[in-house]
Amino acid sequence: MTVRPSARPGVLYVVPTPIGNLADMVPRALSILQTADIIAAEDTRHSGKLMQHFQISTPMVAYHDFSSEQRCQELLQRLESGQNVALISDAGTPLISDPGYRLVALARQRGIEVIPVPGACAAIAALSASGLPSDRFTFEGFPPAKSGARKECFTQQRENPRTLIFYESPHRIAASLGDMVEVFGPDRRLVMAREISKTFETFLSGTTASVLARVCADANQQKGEIVLLVEGFRPVVEQDGPGGEARRVMQILLDAELSVKQAAALAASITGDKKNRLYDWAVSQRAV
Ligand code: SAM
Repeated sequence: MTVRPSARPGVLYVVPTPIGNLADMVPRALSILQTADIIAAEDTRHSGKLMQHFQISTPMVAYHDFSSEQRCQELLQRLESGQNVALISDAGTPLISDPGYRLVALARQRGIEVIPVPGACAAIAALSASGLPSDRFTFEGFPPAKSGARKECFTQQRENPRTLIFYESPHRIAASLGDMVEVFGPDRRLVMAREISKTFETFLSGTTASVLARVCADANQQKGEIVLLVEGFRPVVEQDGPGGEARRVMQILLDAELSVKQAAALAASITGDKKNRLYDWAVSQRAV
């Protein structure tokens, strides 16, 4: 097994860190953090604890997407002069609802090599254990904080057939689930993954309405770090024949001796069912 970073100088490494359990730190990430010339961290004080735990003494500099142009240029110049830079965020994979995009995009534009280290990511960990379809999914990050904008965000995804993944803060979890019930309906399957890899790791599976009820009934479910996964839109499979209520209305009209054509038109406008379907059903009934 090799954990040595690339021998080439001037590489920007995108390095994941644990999302809870420190044992999830991958050996290759450790090796890169130990040997890089500098670590660009979202919050140097926060990451200082991780570095202390793993006895890493590589110098750190703060970097986030709102860092000054000068800070960004400094890092790019280091890379261009042959230094290796390791980019980390507070937890998980940088750039995934975390800083790093600006630096990676600029590095690529300038022809600097960017190498990712695969590792912890809350969205992928949650999806992998959710039991929801995982072949295709849409990652939406944090929904907006205000209910109006949040409902609009959910509405845009209402008919998306892929599993939807959201990050949510514990302070907004009840409100956000309430909006999901409203927009996706009370019966859409939902999984709430909380505190992954930590002591109180919990997966609540059910429907939007049942998970909301459990979260409202237990204040502990409104604590910690949370990923919400919503099953993608499943269109209602059309029945071959008209619905039960439409058939009942149709039968009444036929009993009242309307023609099949008249009865189908009237039953369609009363029930909203399809005229052709009602017509075909009545004809098939007569043929029996
Ligand atoms: N870059 C990180 C990643 O790769 O997952 C995500 C950073 S984002 C600022 C933080 C959010 O990720 C939290 O608010 C929560 O929604 C989710 N998250 C992070 N750690 C988690 C955990 N251990 N369990 C559940 N969700 C987690």
